[in-house]
Amino acid sequence: MKNIIFLLFLLLIGCKPDGFVREDGLEVFTVHELEAHLKTLASDEFMGRLPFSEGERKTINYLQNKFRETGLEPGNGSSYLQEVPMAEITATPEPAMIVKAPGKTLTLEGLKDYVIWTERTEDKIELKEADLVFAGFGIVAPEYNWNDFAGTNVKDKVIVVLVNDPGFGSNDSTLFKGNTMTYYGRWTYKFEEAARQGAKGVLIIHDDVPAGYGFWVVQNNWNAPRLFLDERGKDIYHCAAVGWLAQAAAKRLFEAAGMDWAQSVSEARKPGFKARPMNVKISTSMTVQVRYDKSHNVIGKITGSKAPDEYIIYSTHWDHLGIGKPDAEGDSIYNGALDNASGTAGLLALAKAFKSMKAKPHRTLVFLAVTAEEQGLWGSEYYVQNPIYPKEKTVANINMDGINPYGKMNDIVVVGMGQSELEDYLREEATAAGRYLSPEPNPVAGYYFRSDHFCFAKAGIPALYTNTGIDHVERGKDYGKQLQDDYVARYYHKPSDEYDTARWNLGGAVEDLKLLFNTGKRLAFENTWPRWKTGSEFKAIRESYVPPAQ
Ligand SMILES: [Zn+2]
Repeated sequence: MKNIIFLLFLLLIGCKPDGFVREDGLEVFTVHELEAHLKTLASDEFMGRLPFSEGERKTINYLQNKFRETGLEPGNGSSYLQEVPMAEITATPEPAMIVKAPGKTLTLEGLKDYVIWTERTEDKIELKEADLVFAGFGIVAPEYNWNDFAGTNVKDKVIVVLVNDPGFGSNDSTLFKGNTMTYYGRWTYKFEEAARQGAKGVLIIHDDVPAGYGFWVVQNNWNAPRLFLDERGKDIYHCAAVGWLAQAAAKRLFEAAGMDWAQSVSEARKPGFKARPMNVKISTSMTVQVRYDKSHNVIGKITGSKAPDEYIIYSTHWDHLGIGKPDAEGDSIYNGALDNASGTAGLLALAKAFKSMKAKPHRTLVFLAVTAEEQGLWGSEYYVQNPIYPKEKTVANINMDGINPYGKMNDIVVVGMGQSELEDYLREEATAAGRYLSPEPNPVAGYYFRSDHFCFAKAGIPALYTNTGIDHVERGKDYGKQLQDDYVARYYHKPSDEYDTARWNLGGAVEDLKLLFNTGKRLAFENTWPRWKTGSEFKAIRESYVPPAQ
């Protein structure tokens, strides 16, 4: 009798014994639901949601109120907030760098020939006749059996490195990942590795194609204030000087050192390359100003019914660029509607959908809106360095940075296709919805390393990051591709990134969010632990603390 009642109960709530019901909660995702949040977060009143500003205060209040209304539990003890202490560092370099080579002295001009800054907080940074070492790509990658520093001590030296990784432009898809950028190709990696090696400084030689952007992008940040985490009281080593060399200046440097440029680059691309001293010394300095302040991550949760100490974290960044340089129309508010009021609206809708489900998720769902993504993924980096939920108990991260504003697409793009098994979960949901997964259209640009999920990945936590597809249901792929190119050219990081009912069609976002919802929902009812796939840069670190099940 009891069994019959149980079965009737299951029939009544339309639920399989494992609890996962694909339709449960889906009705929450509507254009109307997303639009209300988007209109508010992207309004001029929210002033572009800059960390530390009045815009931050308004944004985090809005999010806390919505979390509360939705019935989310506070995600950080009794609070919905996690403080993120930060340091804003402004380095003012002297105008030139003196280079002493055997029998020769040359002067490199700041801004034109190089751009440098510091991650250190002392008042003055000085490089006094610092030795230069050419360190190839500056990479230590055990899974590719590659170590540019093997047998060379670069402690207290300034290393000069090439941008990207040896695979790029090699026509060899087995050398690193060929033209697909690995994390070893990113400038952030090169700064981190230089610090691990104890180098005094690191200069990356710029090159438009493998960098993915022109030297002017680097020059735009000359003398600019930069945000970092506040590391007072911690003993963390950073290089004294980091930055970029224009390629023409690098060639002059190599010539002064008596090194053949083309030959050096070609040797650096080959396995077994060894870093080599250039027999050149550089001198320059910077004065440094630091301002400390606190920003906030906003975090809520739904405690799981059966495995409350296992976590699935949805993340998105609430911040954007604030008020800045006016555009041609005189608009100076960088509303960041797509980037990333839209992802934040998506997070609120996901939370509401999980709360509305008839079946209660077994694992705990965490909803994390992070700060300071635009200045260097700092909110997510802080969370991962100071995790509220242990990383060995965190099953997965699903991140949103921009949701589809273009209407329904047949496909959804997986950024970093092939990284983790999470994409197999997503594929199953996409297939069930009559849709399919596409790889990112521009894998050279390394987008997998450029939003908040990457901080989770670096810590080993499997992380899924999707993007808008291009296969437009009504108008096809060319149209879909054109919309994305248009966004990059006309709206990305500009005051024109506004919510506009005439231009936007959230029907596609609704469908994409349903897939992300069902992917997380599946995980919330299962006891599986998705893994990184073979060849992923992040597999070894995960398996160092979560060994794969036999
Ligand atoms: Zn963004």
